[in-house]
Amino acid sequence: MADMTPEAASALLRGAGIPVTRQRVQIACAFLGAPAHLTAEQLVARMREQAPGLARATVYNTLGLFVAHGLVREIIVDGGSVIYDSNTAPHFHYYDSRSGELGDLPAEALRVSGMPQLPPHLELEAVDVIVRVRSRG
Ligand SMILES: [Zn+2]
Repeated sequence: MADMTPEAASALLRGAGIPVTRQRVQIACAFLGAPAHLTAEQLVARMREQAPGLARATVYNTLGLFVAHGLVREIIVDGGSVIYDSNTAPHFHYYDSRSGELGDLPAEALRVSGMPQLPPHLELEAVDVIVRVRSRG
């Protein structure tokens, strides 16, 4: 996977309104360079190779910050497990609960028509669709 340069990562963080730190740049470089679906623990493992001094809590906190600032999308699958998606462009997902595989479906492959009337104190934030699959046979 193509890592992002530290300069590009710093610019991305600044553009999203996130104060730039060395650790955030390291994490952005490792995760935001190409579309990827990772759990926090998978990112912790990746960071252990690339930046061994980085604390697990820093990875978790930074993921939360990236989600809050729209750099990463959170996908909640079975049992409330969270998978982080570095591709924030509109798209949907399929999920295989047996293998745990999460894959992308192009936004135009699925049409959601009609939106329920929401209570007046709520506004629509996003529509997530997860198509659940399993291998044949
Ligand atoms: Zn995705």
